[in-house]
Amino acid sequence: MSQQVKPWSQVASQRDRELHLKAPEIKRWREQEHEAGSPSDLEDFFRVHGLCFTCKATGTRLDPVGWDEKVPLFEECPVCGGTGKLSIQ
Ligand SMILES: [Zn+2]
Repeated sequence: MSQQVKPWSQVASQRDRELHLKAPEIKRWREQEHEAGSPSDLEDFFRVHGLCFTCKATGTRLDPVGWDEKVPLFEECPVCGGTGKLSIQ
């Protein structure tokens, strides 16, 4: 098992925080873009802000790669290398 695998307890707290912090910002941004007639999908938000949509900027794959007894284990996101960020193109 690689060192990059994290148990759900670590992943969950990080994910909840990230999504909780971003929710109002995402909602505002999507309304703005929609009114301006620009692409306003959730995926657009992540792309425009240099965030990894594959892992929803959490740095870990959304699906577990294995189990430690009853604890699901998550692997680093292969797209952003666990940073949750991508360079803006
Ligand atoms: Zn990622």
